[in-house]
Amino acid sequence: MSKLVYFFGKGKAEGNAKMKDLLGGKGANLAELTNLGIPVPPGFTITTEVCRFYYANGGAYPKGLKEEVKAALSKIEETVGRKFGDPRYPLLVSVRSGAPISMPGMMDTVLNLGLNDQTVEGLALLTGNERFAYDCYRRLIAMYGDVVLGLKPEEKDEVDPFEAIMEQMKKRKGVKYDHELTVEDLKEVIAAFKDEIRRRKGIEFPQDPEEQLWNAIGAVFRSWNNPRAIAYRRLNDISDELGTAVTVQAMVFGNMGFDSCTGVVFTRDPATGENRLYGEYLPNAQGEDVVAGIRTPQPINKQQKLREDMLSLEEAMPEVYKELERYCKLLERHFKDMQDVEFTVERGKLWILQTRSGKRTGLAAMRIAVDMVEEGILKEEEALLRIEPDQLNQLLRPIFDPDEKEKARKEGRVVAKGLPAGPGAATGRVVFFPSDAEIWAQQGEPVLLVRVETSPEDIRGMSVAQGILTSRGGMTSHAALVARQMGKVCVVGCEALKIEYGKRQMEVNGHVVKEGDYLSIDGTTGEVILGKVTTKPSEVLQVLVEKRLSPEASLQYQIFDKLMRWADKKRRLKVRVNADRPEQAALGLAFGAEGIGLCRTEHMFFEGERIYSMRKMILAHDRKSREEALAELLPMQKEDFKEIFRVMGGLPVTIRTLDPPLHEFLPHTEQEIKEVASKLGISPEELKTKVETLKEANPMLGHRGCRLGITYPEITEMQARAIFEAACEVKLEDGIDVKPEIMVPLVGHVNELRDQKEIIDKVAQEVFKRYGVSIQYKIGTMIEVPRGALVADEIAQVAEFFSFGTNDLTQTVFGISRDDAGKFLRVYLEKSIWEYDPFARLDVNGVGQLMAIAAQKGRSVRTDLKLGICGEHGGEPHSVKFCHRIGLDYVSCSPLRVPIAKLAAAQAAIEEGIKVEKD
Ligand code: PEP
Ligand code: MG
Repeated sequence: MSKLVYFFGKGKAEGNAKMKDLLGGKGANLAELTNLGIPVPPGFTITTEVCRFYYANGGAYPKGLKEEVKAALSKIEETVGRKFGDPRYPLLVSVRSGAPISMPGMMDTVLNLGLNDQTVEGLALLTGNERFAYDCYRRLIAMYGDVVLGLKPEEKDEVDPFEAIMEQMKKRKGVKYDHELTVEDLKEVIAAFKDEIRRRKGIEFPQDPEEQLWNAIGAVFRSWNNPRAIAYRRLNDISDELGTAVTVQAMVFGNMGFDSCTGVVFTRDPATGENRLYGEYLPNAQGEDVVAGIRTPQPINKQQKLREDMLSLEEAMPEVYKELERYCKLLERHFKDMQDVEFTVERGKLWILQTRSGKRTGLAAMRIAVDMVEEGILKEEEALLRIEPDQLNQLLRPIFDPDEKEKARKEGRVVAKGLPAGPGAATGRVVFFPSDAEIWAQQGEPVLLVRVETSPEDIRGMSVAQGILTSRGGMTSHAALVARQMGKVCVVGCEALKIEYGKRQMEVNGHVVKEGDYLSIDGTTGEVILGKVTTKPSEVLQVLVEKRLSPEASLQYQIFDKLMRWADKKRRLKVRVNADRPEQAALGLAFGAEGIGLCRTEHMFFEGERIYSMRKMILAHDRKSREEALAELLPMQKEDFKEIFRVMGGLPVTIRTLDPPLHEFLPHTEQEIKEVASKLGISPEELKTKVETLKEANPMLGHRGCRLGITYPEITEMQARAIFEAACEVKLEDGIDVKPEIMVPLVGHVNELRDQKEIIDKVAQEVFKRYGVSIQYKIGTMIEVPRGALVADEIAQVAEFFSFGTNDLTQTVFGISRDDAGKFLRVYLEKSIWEYDPFARLDVNGVGQLMAIAAQKGRSVRTDLKLGICGEHGGEPHSVKFCHRIGLDYVSCSPLRVPIAKLAAAQAAIEEGIKVEKD
């Protein structure tokens, strides 16, 4: 380890924006800002390396750190002309966390360090504002108590202990706001705070500024591993190894009177992406008041005013506002991204405290990326890389049925309005505690989490809720920020809610809402609606599928369309859809799917009467009765194929031969057995016996896949006939050149495929002859058991294509049942045994390795072997990128994930290009 501390100040910094890994996002950006000539209070950053050292060495610091900190502190002192701990000219500093990847509000910060019983008086004299000085002091003690000493509420429903003392004091003095407390009141508060520390911890609040500083630094390093930070990293796939940097910076004060303020501003609207400043500020306050959502702030500009009695910064301090606007533009152009900027005005002088890429809704992310291409700030491919593929979900997400919402309005059920912090529509049952949200959600209940305000501890409850509603806080409060990032529907600052946690109910403009009642929120307008409101498809779906909206009328659709066009230009992977029904095929096609990658034929028999024919076939005791049942199935299957072929209009359609885990189709209850027996014309006893003989100990590894078609060739025969007859008829009737790709499941030995191919080829010749036409078709296999992957070169001698069935491949590689993994999965993830659920995201090292082997071996004997994936991973962005890297031709996924897969595929191609350039 060489340099441990990096200084910034006086227009020059030792670090820069590229050093995020070492200086954390905050430290790197402050350095960059200083170099840009933006007014930033001077400070220094202790590197993430020190944090890693700290954890590796049981809380010890590397040699030389104390000296480097001391030297950097002297530089700050020199820059601002005050000294740390000096009773007459005291310098105060903040100590802040800052990880390489932003984790808003998850770690700790301590402000006003350097104050003690002497320096507080110095500060009072220096600023001519005694009240301000004591206010800073009481804030320091409370934050120190919370962050360094860990003083939290003693009971679940209690408020913060220091907050409780403040509340008592205000009550005693008969005032409503903190700033109405006098100097004498604050001195009493400070004494009470110190008593609280003595009572709970048996120690004194330290008077030595050095001791305060080092304890705060240690606490911030430790906050890297607090439960909420760990939970946040799990949810956001951030490595535990990164560590946080710590930035120590001179304090500037937004609470020095009404010519001072503090605020947060986004350079664009973080909810909609609109190109205008969006933010809020609090006059005469310190930064934490805004972020913590304790007081509801004022709007940054006139446009944002909800009510006339509000005073925007634009009106209150027009010059400052203009200067701020200028810096925002500069920062945005410099960082080529929308910024979230923290600022403070100290007696009319603007200071920029922090800038980082602003969290935003998926919708805003996409709009900003598209707009920035048009403004010449970004290139198309840079814009594509800016978007998390999963964010597209937010454009595809449901909205309220407008008629139902109108009805709710007429019935007077729209009872309140808050700030629209995360767009979309959510309906659920009200819960007031995040832990309840988790429990209810586990039981399958849709929940709406209602809180006065949220804190980082609530993150898990928030993540399972359909939506989040708070009565306090602004657009940059914790709830708003976190919800937005999670893509949650969220309404904040809805002051009409009178929440009574103790009674588990709230009152909203005369209506009582109890725990468990249904409530709906509109995160686009901020409306709160009593009861359930049915949700409707998104605008994109309305344009593309329902054709109820014209493309010109929907900005969301236009953004989506542009992104998809750019992605299409860049990607190499083709994207197909998994579809078993014509309407699913049509939906996939509307999103630009380039074929069907998997049609699970057994799924065609789930509905209505069909299941009886299917059961008849499964339960048949001899070939003759099986053929009778198959004869019933054939016309249904053929009609379905014809429909699908017509919808797909000549694009490749991969149809898989029957692969039913038998247990899914067998009757289970007495009632079902009775019904089925009567349909089949046999006695319930006879049926029960048959069901018993078909029962398997492990159906997922049982008589399924190609094993079925091998033991009962007549099944494959019927299916091949249905496919080819449908293809010939569609060709003759509609002139469509159908391209079926017939896929045999669960193959582990080449002879299994040979056996099935022989049947399929034979039926094909017979059908073509009968219809007098021929169809180009392919026969291939799924690679979904490990042996299949390992002998892929043998299998490729027969197969014209492989499609990776990564659901089964994951099951068989891990040796865990797809059906039972849920029981232990949660624990595995909690204990970090697995980093993620391998059924959701491809296990690249294990399952992925087998795929790469199979791809390489397969192509070694057949260079034009077509390779695809049709397991659930085909629509998961990380997995899609892996498929690109190992050279697959296509991925196939459920319809709504087609756009996500396209974007991920484009990103994979762009990232590959960047890597080649770098190499
Ligand atoms: C698979 O195993 O990945 C697959 C697509 O098939 P199924 O899910 O139907 O077993
Ligand atoms: Mg499978």
